[in-house]
Amino acid sequence: MARAPRRRRGRRQDRIDRAGCTLDRRARCTIKPVSGQKGLPRCRTLPQNQNNMADTRTPTQRSAIMRAVGSKNTKPELVVRRMAHRLGYRFRLHVKALPGKPDIVFASRNKIILVHGCFWHGHGCRYGKLPKSRLEFWRPKIAANRIRDRRTAKSLRSLGWKVLVIWQCQTKDLKSLEKRLERFMAQESDRQHKPN
Ligand SMILES: [Zn+2]
Repeated sequence: MARAPRRRRGRRQDRIDRAGCTLDRRARCTIKPVSGQKGLPRCRTLPQNQNNMADTRTPTQRSAIMRAVGSKNTKPELVVRRMAHRLGYRFRLHVKALPGKPDIVFASRNKIILVHGCFWHGHGCRYGKLPKSRLEFWRPKIAANRIRDRRTAKSLRSLGWKVLVIWQCQTKDLKSLEKRLERFMAQESDRQHKPN
């Protein structure tokens, strides 16, 4: 598989890499100074298996992604919230009484928006790609998340809510995001949700 050429990374990134070198990585890690180059040596992680498939993210990036799991108020969620608010819709957040504690709940309109991070919820886009190392760890994790997402959306719909899933990658194009949001909010909701 061809990989896009990496941008040359500066000294700062090298330092971050080394600082982020976790124990189990360090076991496979040989730090060799790149000849003729001043400053910090580059942290060279040996290939983790014979296919030379190492994690394409730095440990720092990977742990940032990991931290984002299940967390509220992620950046994509904030983008959607801000937009909905600007368009004049009012909503409640992370409603515990509903299945899956949905992110954005428009109670009066019977509508719910779920904002999914592409990596954690296994989107088919480029952000949703699994890391190339420790696949045996990531694959079941992401698969379980996807099953849970489907179940959550299904139970919400069966309770009479209209559900829109917005993926992280879909929050980058604000124009089309706004169109989608408006279209969703304009939809008639067929059933009236009965609050408990
Ligand atoms: Zn995506």
